[in-house]
Amino acid sequence: MSPPLKGHAEAEVAIVGGGMSGLCAALRLMRSGRRVALVERNICGGSSTGKSAGFLTPDSELELAQLVRRYGAEGARDLWEAPVIGIRLITEAARQYGFDCDLVREDSLFLGNGTSGGEAVAEEVAARERLGYPKTLYDRESLSSVIGSTAFSAAVRYPDTYGINPLLFAQGVKRALLEGGVAIYEGSEVTEVTNHTLRTHLGSLTADQIVFCADKLRPSVTRYARNVYHAQTFMAISEPLEDDDVRALFPSGSLQCWDSDLVYTYFRLTGDQRLLVGGGSALTTFSLQYVTSPRVITGVLRRLKRKIPRLEHVKFVQYWPGFIDTTRDLLPTVLKDERFPWIHYVLGCVGLPWAAFCGDFVARHVLHGGECVSCDDPRYYRFFTPRRRFLLPLGFAQIVGKPLVFALNNAWAKYYQVDVGRPIGRDPGKL
Ligand SMILES: Cc1cc2nc3c(=O)[nH]c(=O)nc-3n(C[C@H](O)[C@H](O)[C@H](O)COP(=O)(O)OP(=O)(O)OC[C@H]3O[C@@H](n4cnc5c(N)ncnc54)[C@H](O)[C@@H]3O)c2cc1C
Repeated sequence: MSPPLKGHAEAEVAIVGGGMSGLCAALRLMRSGRRVALVERNICGGSSTGKSAGFLTPDSELELAQLVRRYGAEGARDLWEAPVIGIRLITEAARQYGFDCDLVREDSLFLGNGTSGGEAVAEEVAARERLGYPKTLYDRESLSSVIGSTAFSAAVRYPDTYGINPLLFAQGVKRALLEGGVAIYEGSEVTEVTNHTLRTHLGSLTADQIVFCADKLRPSVTRYARNVYHAQTFMAISEPLEDDDVRALFPSGSLQCWDSDLVYTYFRLTGDQRLLVGGGSALTTFSLQYVTSPRVITGVLRRLKRKIPRLEHVKFVQYWPGFIDTTRDLLPTVLKDERFPWIHYVLGCVGLPWAAFCGDFVARHVLHGGECVSCDDPRYYRFFTPRRRFLLPLGFAQIVGKPLVFALNNAWAKYYQVDVGRPIGRDPGKL
């Protein structure tokens, strides 16, 4: 662990948060020769990033068909390409610096449950066809060639996705940053911001520009804390599987899988052949309580074993809960503080690729003084602005509570919202 921030320090750019977004922002700024300091409450990768399952797919919460419905084909393409770039940033960094992080190329398999799941798969196939993206469709019969289950109604498979050990990746980036001269302070929570100065319990840091890539922000630190809420998910990991079990589960090679349920179940193999399984429940996803009991993940495992009987004897040796920060429509918000334009925020990245993209995006913004003329960033302003269209405004949280406002907005954005052909919101031309 790097030592905490003590006394007073100075930097050109201060980054708050050492998850995927903060680390990718720091990498970009370091490579551009900026004097960077990163302040992390825990250890780098110690929050969502390190707890995650390490799926690297552009499909994190919003499927391509849902993006097409909401934004039309061109908007969907822009939005799909962003996490694709995020995946490239992660895999290129892992290769360039030689991180030992179990990076494997692994196709994605989106599994349909029942009739509605079969329809969701068909819509995804149609969207991929429309945008010219590769895909393979499996019906109930042909599915047995790729997964050891007869319980799913259909599936769509697509390439160019990866699996990774995200904590090892985060720790690798941390080492690369330290070697590149970035000052990293761990165990240091930013509790206050005054003008250009961040304060922690033991020290302070003054910087020309400040970038917040932090989760679970407190309202005492920033008023933008209200723009995000958390979704809770649960994970379990098995003993290493026998080769026979792996072959039975994935007859034609390992895949990263998730199903079509609203609170979906996801699973993939780790580098040492353990099965990682994640999921949740409708009651706990937006709960205000931090649920630590194994009850939810036990239910997820029971249902998965029913669908894949071959897993019945597999023992799961550890479980953990985790919060994912999200905005009201499951797309990130990136903004520059209107009153203090040297302070930038990356909020609510759902997915490692999105976090990598947004960290890099905000760093490019910092480098270009917020007016990026030489790159194609303005394409993203309308998606990332906090002024975009939502079903319910934040003010409703005072009446019905934040969990309900976020749950309704999330469901609306995922299943019903249509923005194509409509103005996206107030003044989306700037961040
Ligand atoms: C159990 C689980 C499984 C998941 N699985 C996947 C998956 O397989 N694939 C995928 O793409 N996504 C997955 N996700 C989502 C993914 O992990 C997140 O979307 C992503 O890591 C967000 O990265 P981030 O950098 O924005 O946030 P974080 O990783 O949360 O980083 C923010 C950092 O800021 C620090 N911080 C917060 N406040 C302060 C402060 N005041 N001062 C200093 N530091 C502060 C935190 O300690 C933290 O390290 C999963 C998430 C969970 C919880």
